[in-house]
Amino acid sequence: MRLKSIELVGFKSFARKTSLDFGVTITAIVGPNGSGKSNIAEAFRFVLGEQSMKSMRGRRGEDMIWNGSGGVPRSGRASVKLIFDNYDRAFNLDFDEVSIERVVHRDGISEYLLNSSVVRLRDIVELLSQANIGASGHHIISQGEADRILSASSRERREMLEDALGLTAYLYKREDAERKLEKTAENMREVEMLRRELAPHLRFLHGQVKKIEEVSRLQTEISQKYLEYLGRESIYLRVAQEQLEEKRAAPQGERKVLEVRITQLRTEIGNKSKNDNVASKLVVLEEESRTMTQKREQVTRRLGRIEGEEALRERMVKEVGVIIPHAQVEEFVRHVEQELKESLTLDVSLLHARITALLTRTKEFLGRLMHTTSEQHIEQDHARKAEIEQELHDLQGKEKDITAAIVKLRTGMESERETSREIERELFSGMARRSELESILVQLSAQEQILAKERETFRLEFAEAGALIGSDAAGFDSYPLTNTHGEKLTVTEIFTEDRALQQERRRKLERLKIRLEEIGMGNTKEILQEYKETSTREEFLAREIKDLEVSARKLYQLVEELTATLQTRFVAGIETINIEFNIFFKLMFGGGSATLSIVHEEKSRRSIALESVSEKNETTDEVEEGIDIAITLPHKRIKGLHMLSGGERALTSIALIFAMSQVNPPPFLILDETDAALDEANSRRYGDMIENLAQKSQLILITHNRETMSRAGVLYGITMNSDGISKLLSVHFEEALVVAK
Ligand code: ATP
Repeated sequence: MRLKSIELVGFKSFARKTSLDFGVTITAIVGPNGSGKSNIAEAFRFVLGEQSMKSMRGRRGEDMIWNGSGGVPRSGRASVKLIFDNYDRAFNLDFDEVSIERVVHRDGISEYLLNSSVVRLRDIVELLSQANIGASGHHIISQGEADRILSASSRERREMLEDALGLTAYLYKREDAERKLEKTAENMREVEMLRRELAPHLRFLHGQVKKIEEVSRLQTEISQKYLEYLGRESIYLRVAQEQLEEKRAAPQGERKVLEVRITQLRTEIGNKSKNDNVASKLVVLEEESRTMTQKREQVTRRLGRIEGEEALRERMVKEVGVIIPHAQVEEFVRHVEQELKESLTLDVSLLHARITALLTRTKEFLGRLMHTTSEQHIEQDHARKAEIEQELHDLQGKEKDITAAIVKLRTGMESERETSREIERELFSGMARRSELESILVQLSAQEQILAKERETFRLEFAEAGALIGSDAAGFDSYPLTNTHGEKLTVTEIFTEDRALQQERRRKLERLKIRLEEIGMGNTKEILQEYKETSTREEFLAREIKDLEVSARKLYQLVEELTATLQTRFVAGIETINIEFNIFFKLMFGGGSATLSIVHEEKSRRSIALESVSEKNETTDEVEEGIDIAITLPHKRIKGLHMLSGGERALTSIALIFAMSQVNPPPFLILDETDAALDEANSRRYGDMIENLAQKSQLILITHNRETMSRAGVLYGITMNSDGISKLLSVHFEEALVVAK
């Protein structure tokens, strides 16, 4: 990488476009005082991103712009452009030539351009640091600032040295990492805050979701329990109904048959009572029998009388000879008595007649009595007796017939009565059975009513299930009913199960429904959606935190690594510089010694960013390193830099600057009258060192020193006329000597 040229337009006294080419390693710029030479060194600072106006002898950006003179009006902008040869890709850009330009406007706003494209200052600074062109400006030594490195604080000195050692890139990287780490920590804090804000809502939603899950679990349970309950109940009701029908069929049939039979029996009984003429017949017969017996007894008595009379007659015949039938005697006596009684009341005339008649009658009786004592009379008696005996016989025959008829009737009636009793018995037992059946049927219809109620309850429960579990409820009849071993239950097993268990199932369902009602979720869909969104956000934030932690850890590691690298390189760099410093110092002073030493200053630094990922979560008392310079001069007892003369200070700082440049050569070095304080002998040594230095860096030397001019390959003369505009001219050594004055 090589600096090709610088181009100034409207910058300070360079009102017009002025371009300086640096085709050689040592370029000297000469010119009289106030012609604008230092403005060129400042142009370098300016374009390299210098922010301190003071270090460019201005108060504000506007001061960098050509301010106009009598003839030439002021400019609106100032620009400085550096052009580098980037053939070796020292700048990590795929261009053979790289231009860096800065433009400042009157309003003070600066613009940076990289190969004519607007970029940030930061991009410029980083790009430059790649080529070891640091921002501390140690490679631009302004006029009167040669001993800046000596007068600087140890911390500033350290910065200059870090810059010189090419550690700026690492520093930038570290700063960058630290910035990122800080940003990451901030993001982490923000994310954590968001998570904290989200947490209660998420907890609430989580609770709601748990409830929803419980509800869904309950619903599933209720659904299953309902299906089981309804399934069992429907089977129970169906079988119970079937069995009821079955139970009813037999008694109903039997009753029907019985009814018919009872009617039949009743009719039969009715018919029997109508047939009572048998009895009346019997009464008649009995009456006849009685009459017949009386008759027979009469005849028997007559027969006895006849037989008595006969026997009496026979005895009278034997004893008296005449036998008068008693009846005739009785009849006669009665007649006499009658006649006599009636005679009592009669007149005597009539009485006479009556007694006469009575005497006649007595005569007749006595006459008749005489006749009956005959055998003919006896024969008559025999005939009568035979007649009576015949009559008796007839009567006895008839009586026998009647008795036989009565017996027959009685026997008939008896058997009839037996039959009736049978019918009655059957009727009664039939009626008893019928009421038995009726009570059975009453019982069955009571059962039927209970069953009907149960069916109604079932219907309501089914409707309720439908409202609760929807169309699933309809699937109860295909719900698999199994025992605890998962075996399918038979209808009989289901039906014969203790009803108490089914009641318990119903109670359980009721309890579940109450529980479900108690939880009573609102819009579950919305809650679930919100929960999903919130937890997704939470997961995202958690991931974010993790990612941030990972990157924070990485950044922390990077910072640590960079710090370590910086430390190592710095210590090593200082050691190498020390060697060169000592050599240059000895060369300048012809002896003595110079040493840089690292000093530690404790500084409390508390990085929140580091804290979050650092194991040692505490305030770190960071040790800041500064650089001290210790020198000894030959033949002099010098105890500190402050005791050096101006020349000695210049020599010492030149020795240090050269040492620094030697160790890590910058691409170019601008020295503005660094040699001003040197005497002739030292100027020569200075010239030698410059040549030595030019082997590694391009040198741009602003000088009045002849010796220095003599070492330059190209000399530029700067002049200024009355118009106040700096003008550039290429001059030869002799001309330069003139111009320089
Ligand atoms: P010396 O040899 O004495 O150090 P020099 O050659 O380095 O001098 P400079 O200091 O670079 O000279 O130039 C300063 C000149 O630039 C002054 O004359 C000053 O008026 C002029 N100048 C500075 N800023 C502006 C500006 N914004 N517009 C016009 N001229 C300016």
